[in-house]
Amino acid sequence: MSTLSDLSGGTFDVAIIGGGIIGAGIARDLALRGARVALVEKGDFGSGTTSGSTRLIHGGLRYLEMLDFSLVRMDLREREILLRIAPHLVKPLEFRIPFIHQSAWFRAKMRAGLLLYDALSYDRSLPGHRFLSNAETLADEPALTTGGLHGAASYFDAQVSMPERLCLENLIDAVRHGAVVKNYCQVRSATKINGKVQSLLVRDTGTGDESELRAKLFVNATGAWFDRVQTIVSGAPSRRLRTTKGIHLTCAPLVNKANVLFSPLDGRLFFVIPLFGKTWIGTTDTDYPDDPAGVRAEADDIEYLLRSVEPFFPAIRSLAIYSTNAGVRALVRQGGSESSVSRRHKIEETQPGMFSVLGGKITGYRAIAQEAADAVCARLGITAECQTAAASLPGGHGANVDSLYGSREDELCALSGSFGRIGAQARLAVRHEFCQHLDDFLLRRTEHAFAPDWGASVAPEALAALAVELAWTKAQREEEWRRYRAAAVRAGAVTEPRP
Ligand SMILES: Cc1cc2nc3c(=O)[nH]c(=O)nc-3n(C[C@H](O)[C@H](O)[C@H](O)COP(=O)(O)OP(=O)(O)OC[C@H]3O[C@@H](n4cnc5c(N)ncnc54)[C@H](O)[C@@H]3O)c2cc1C
Repeated sequence: MSTLSDLSGGTFDVAIIGGGIIGAGIARDLALRGARVALVEKGDFGSGTTSGSTRLIHGGLRYLEMLDFSLVRMDLREREILLRIAPHLVKPLEFRIPFIHQSAWFRAKMRAGLLLYDALSYDRSLPGHRFLSNAETLADEPALTTGGLHGAASYFDAQVSMPERLCLENLIDAVRHGAVVKNYCQVRSATKINGKVQSLLVRDTGTGDESELRAKLFVNATGAWFDRVQTIVSGAPSRRLRTTKGIHLTCAPLVNKANVLFSPLDGRLFFVIPLFGKTWIGTTDTDYPDDPAGVRAEADDIEYLLRSVEPFFPAIRSLAIYSTNAGVRALVRQGGSESSVSRRHKIEETQPGMFSVLGGKITGYRAIAQEAADAVCARLGITAECQTAAASLPGGHGANVDSLYGSREDELCALSGSFGRIGAQARLAVRHEFCQHLDDFLLRRTEHAFAPDWGASVAPEALAALAVELAWTKAQREEEWRRYRAAAVRAGAVTEPRP
């Protein structure tokens, strides 16, 4: 685990602010090209918008309607790359578009859209689209309403059930190639000479200790926090982003396939998806100018989703809601309705000596990171080529694709000793995955928090193993449990996890 002194020893080639999927991708890309990289993240890695997403790796049928063909093509190409370099984390997922009370014009439009979607993914390994009869549709989705049903369309995209681990594996690989990465380390201010950024003042949010982080170039990859960090760095108010909130709710299993539906309330596209043995429903899209750290699903967001789903899956109202979650999109500022704003990213030098990434999706993170790394390398005179389209992530070497750890499953087994699997996971998380707290472990290193009990049944074993690794006292263990329960409620648990 890196310390503040690892950051203060000398001048890095590049210092990256933000340890979400995009910052992590840039760190890996640059480290693989031989650059000396540092990355700081104010919370835990992947705890920002990356963990608030719908967890799809998709071209985005919706963006075809916005006529953004090059964005869709980029994301479909990236989908293929991720299926190849991270087969343990990114899996094919079949989608259904049920036609319920839809006009012949709507069905023809969908037919044309899916033909185009297949054409744009000409290098795909996934099956192309097809159409299903009512009987075939209902055989897979018995909870779907039968009234007004005219069959369904089927097509494939992909799902990353734990984007937190996709982010983490980028960082693990960056560190293997010499990067220094530190979570719970916040950028507080910047020192400039003639406007050019020279160094950042960073604070360890656990100890309160501060240090100076010097680099030849800096990258602001703070997603929805971009304007806040740019303001700190430049000293002038920045308003480049339009930030919008999206929420999800999870309930007892309702669907077997990923369903693409259009809300009868406003025509917006949303998903009803199987994930972790539950059903995820989302998302919404409403302006949210406040601090992204405070984003929550409110009662009217939840009611909007329930009212949108009900005509298609009437059983929704009788199902238990397990949790909600929310995230904040960072969109390059544009007028119009929230849903009409382009999802295209921008990379700019927003301050002399600092490049910034504005916008972007998880799906395109690797390509966005490559573009940012190209800009940085051109400035630093680094001529090495990008390797990330071909080089598998640490767990992505083919073996054990059914394990969250992929080909790193052996590393986990080697650590089990007298511990069971939970203990081994905790050891691995602390020793090689930058885990500092129980909530890091349950929410972002493993999928335990996605169980209906929010990981309460495994928490005692995890806590015991983490306490050994991190030398926690009894009081610290109690504090960690309190901290986890609060984090679970913030993350959307309907009731606090109980031991
Ligand atoms: C509801 C919703 C659904 C989505 N669904 C999908 C989807 O299905 N598929 C898809 O491809 N994309 C999806 N997206 C988009 C995707 O989630 C984001 O584009 C992506 O996660 C952004 O990653 P990031 O690294 O830019 O931001 P983040 O993950 O937010 O990372 C930025 C990090 O910067 C850190 N930071 C901020 N300030 C500081 C500071 N001062 N010092 C140090 N660190 C700091 C934050 O703590 C944060 O962790 C969705 C987004 C939302 C909101």
